Amino acid sequence: MNLSIKIFISLILAVIVGVIAGPDSVPFIKWWIAPIGTMFINLIKMMIVPVVFTSLIVGMTSIGDTKKLGRIGVKTVAIYLVTTAIAILIGFAVAGFIHPGLGMSLPTDAAEVKVKEAPSIMQVLVAMIPANPIASMAKADILPTIVFSLFIGVGIIQVGGQRAQTIINFFDACAEVCYKVIAMIMAFSPIGVFCLLLPVVAANGPSVLLPLLAVIACMAIGCVIHAVGVYSMLARVWGGHTPLAFFKGMSEAMLIAFSTCSSAGTLPVNMKNTQEKLGVSREVTSFVLPLGATINMDGTAVYMGICSLFIANVFGINLDFGQMAMIVLTGTLASIGTAGVPGAGLIMLAMVLQSVGLPLEGLALVAGIDRILDMFRTCLNITGDAAVACVINDTEKKYQQAA
Ligand code: ASP
Repeated sequence: MNLSIKIFISLILAVIVGVIAGPDSVPFIKWWIAPIGTMFINLIKMMIVPVVFTSLIVGMTSIGDTKKLGRIGVKTVAIYLVTTAIAILIGFAVAGFIHPGLGMSLPTDAAEVKVKEAPSIMQVLVAMIPANPIASMAKADILPTIVFSLFIGVGIIQVGGQRAQTIINFFDACAEVCYKVIAMIMAFSPIGVFCLLLPVVAANGPSVLLPLLAVIACMAIGCVIHAVGVYSMLARVWGGHTPLAFFKGMSEAMLIAFSTCSSAGTLPVNMKNTQEKLGVSREVTSFVLPLGATINMDGTAVYMGICSLFIANVFGINLDFGQMAMIVLTGTLASIGTAGVPGAGLIMLAMVLQSVGLPLEGLALVAGIDRILDMFRTCLNITGDAAVACVINDTEKKYQQAA
């Protein structure tokens, strides 16, 4: 049986067992089952920094010259930004149609959210440059780690010749080792997924979710529209994949994203799927995907569109055009700054709400179901990276043929 089927079965099993076990079983599950899920997540996290660092260097040095690197880089970031802005608009459209939160009043026991002050754009830019790259890696701060890897990659390309080749071979071998370790970890994923999902289902149960079901429905619909409308179109036009082949090829990574809620954690599997199932070159995946796992968050963008309208509805606020435009702008920036880890989007939502003066108390509402929303958004986040990888792969091939 292939791995994605096994993961899918354990997902279904977790839902069934979680519903049957119910909230009474939460202490038992928290004590005995959840830690196994945490171990699985830790195994994946263990590989994030080594994979990002080595694969970005390998990706850049295999692209070879800085001019080509610049071309691919600009193209990648531009497509990432455009798809992210479209994602927010889709979020608006879906929430505008379903009107989640209309007529709902604030529950008094809404979960508490500690709102971090949203960083300014300049603060985000400054934080991207690591004063101490080892410290950034130790803290698994991915954006500074990426910036460091980019500089090292360019440095290696500029050194060139035999000496550069020695270090390229070294990183190439390191990346290979990382992929092997990841394959070993993935063999445990069906168990990991079961242990991660069971506590969520047992604690939330179907009835608790009822009032917020509309938000979850919006999220699911928005993600499907974006995936089918935007990604399968990109993969079709540039990758030559039918939508079925594209989503089938991505299924393993999508399921892992769905259950781990971490783009960064899904990166290794995404790289494997995109290369093996979608036929994207290693050169492209090792540059486009680590970058995408950190800066391209279309699912998070859909979520920001939906949640801001939802919160506006709950508080009886009418958003005007200017406010909506502001949400698209800050939402796009916020999704770049969102780390590919569980729950990061909720914090960035604070920044978006603040930018248009929506009440931050609204976050408390979303927080209760955030884990579920996170599953959908992370799933979309990583699928978007793969679709863009198809585009870059194809356009680069054509560019090379024409040159
Ligand atoms: N969990 C998401 C991810 O890893 C980020 C988010 O919270 O929106 O892609």
